[in-house]
Amino acid sequence: MASSSVTSSGASPVCPVGAHVPVAGGLATGGLKYAAQIGAEAVQVFVSNPRGWALPEGRADEDARLRERADLPVYVHAAYLVNFGSPSADTLAKSAASVRHALRRGRAVGARGVVVHTGSAVSQPYEDAMRQVREHVLPLLEEIPDDGPDLLLEPMAGQGRMLCAQVQQLGPFFEALEHHPKLGVCFDTCHAFAAGHDLAAPGGAAATIDALVDTVGEGRLRLVHANDSKDACGSAKDRHENIGAGRIGEAPFAELFRHPAVAGVPFIIETPGRAPEPHRKDIETLKRLRDG
Ligand SMILES: [Zn+2]
Repeated sequence: MASSSVTSSGASPVCPVGAHVPVAGGLATGGLKYAAQIGAEAVQVFVSNPRGWALPEGRADEDARLRERADLPVYVHAAYLVNFGSPSADTLAKSAASVRHALRRGRAVGARGVVVHTGSAVSQPYEDAMRQVREHVLPLLEEIPDDGPDLLLEPMAGQGRMLCAQVQQLGPFFEALEHHPKLGVCFDTCHAFAAGHDLAAPGGAAATIDALVDTVGEGRLRLVHANDSKDACGSAKDRHENIGAGRIGEAPFAELFRHPAVAGVPFIIETPGRAPEPHRKDIETLKRLRDG
């Protein structure tokens, strides 16, 4: 696997650095404009209100313009309300409908992956929640056409009764979902740090990626959410900070870029700041750490 991801010159493929982009005005009209302003080499978008269950149709012209940007990897982030571990039958049904919609819309915009949070057991036993994951997510994976996006599981910061925060907890997910070829991982640095992976310690980022690969195998890490953290390691708090301005700092990102399992994997920032400037700066910082 490591050898197939290395180019003939011996250099590792470059990780595109991009951002979650606002899409007011249209996925392509708004999203691509913002991407250009901040120097993004990859984008992540919402295809519905992330805090609602509505499943809007897209606009064919906007979809096509995004799909045609072969130079710009596109990812979709599913709604925040999605929780396959929920004891509520209503939430479970709506979660399946919402992710099915995100996968369909993702295919329409040429997305490489749809990011889904691994969820929480809320008030029910872990085993029951994981049974639901298998029952409701496996059919979604099997529905994805060959040219459709991957489904990328994103471990969380570890608050409450989260089903997966530390990377080792991805193991039961991959087992429940039969190591489906369309299944991948989105590794969020802020969440991992909050969950107790000490990325800030020298060698900490590399050790965490080693543990991830040990758990789910090679080739499964398909996206990085690059976020610094306002809170300490192990805090279980999910508060993103601009790159280098938080408790993780710059160096662990440089270490991540150099890990063989990360070669070619896009980095997407979800950092604070509404105006383009803080995001432009975060992308510039990451490119410097990547290329330096
Ligand atoms: Zn994230």
